[in-house]
Amino acid sequence: MRTVTLNNGVEMPVLGFGVYQIPAEQTERAVSDALAAGYRSFDTAAAYGNEEAVGRAISAGGIPRQDLFVTTKLWVSDAGEDKARRAFETSLRKLGLDHLDLYLIHQPYGDVYGSWRAMEALLHQGLVRAIGVSNFHGDRLVDLIDHNEIAPAVNQVETHPFHQRTADQELMRERGVQIESWGPFAEGRNDLFTHPELSKIAAAHGKSVAQVVLRWLIQRDVVVIPKSVRAERMAENLDVFDFELAAEEMAAVAALDTGESLFFDHRDPVMVSRLGTHILDD
Ligand code: NAP
Repeated sequence: MRTVTLNNGVEMPVLGFGVYQIPAEQTERAVSDALAAGYRSFDTAAAYGNEEAVGRAISAGGIPRQDLFVTTKLWVSDAGEDKARRAFETSLRKLGLDHLDLYLIHQPYGDVYGSWRAMEALLHQGLVRAIGVSNFHGDRLVDLIDHNEIAPAVNQVETHPFHQRTADQELMRERGVQIESWGPFAEGRNDLFTHPELSKIAAAHGKSVAQVVLRWLIQRDVVVIPKSVRAERMAENLDVFDFELAAEEMAAVAALDTGESLFFDHRDPVMVSRLGTHILDD
């Protein structure tokens, strides 16, 4: 698997498997199927409620730990130096691991600075190989970088053909932060899988729209973590390294950008409060 080198030298696969919205009782099978398909990078979160199932599949898979790249995320209700440390230990136990490859602050809310201090300590102690953030707009990202010892290695943000984040990516590049896409298919919104322009490019390469979208992101140096519960789609989504989009095709996809989220703006006060006060079930 092709990798990107993070700002602390850690190699991260450019393509992994996301498990958001996979019910806990289906997650073990989905991750086992993904391992069998060849995925080695997995993206979960305390808030997804399926870390234990991811852990069971990893344990049963028997893949050497050094060949895996496991990401999980800290939820807002666990923000703060002490709480973040305890939440990390809970996530690690649920995953059945002795270290994480990447630990992310899931949302830019609550005591982000306390959380970050805990994460810097985890990094120093070798309990995580890299630390990063998610859903941070440029202002929050720069503020975190300028007032802490360690800059995030990754910022995982909504990134797909209808919300491309090119200016955000440029800022991240300047600051040494790797952009990672969540929702690479926009979860199918805007009829992505049957979009005429994307379908035309897909037909020209004998590929699917999903493959074109992943390829387009990877050619933009964006890390991707598509989700599917279907084995045939898992294989399809991995099979994006035997073709290349031409400059005109990259430009045609670039023209689809609306510059806006298809989900919600993380700066919307209603969402800041709704997500920021959501307590996880245990
Ligand atoms: P996504 O990957 O954009 O889309 C998933 C949807 O696409 C599912 O409905 C899936 O259906 C379908 N699909 C997958 N492959 C397909 C294919 N080849 N052809 C047709 N349909 C296909 O959405 P996402 O799960 O929201 O995003 C990916 C990952 O990003 C998540 O799993 C999670 O790890 C992460 N994420 C993070 C955040 C955050 O706040 N940090 C937010 C959202 C997501 P089936 O499953 O039925 O195949």
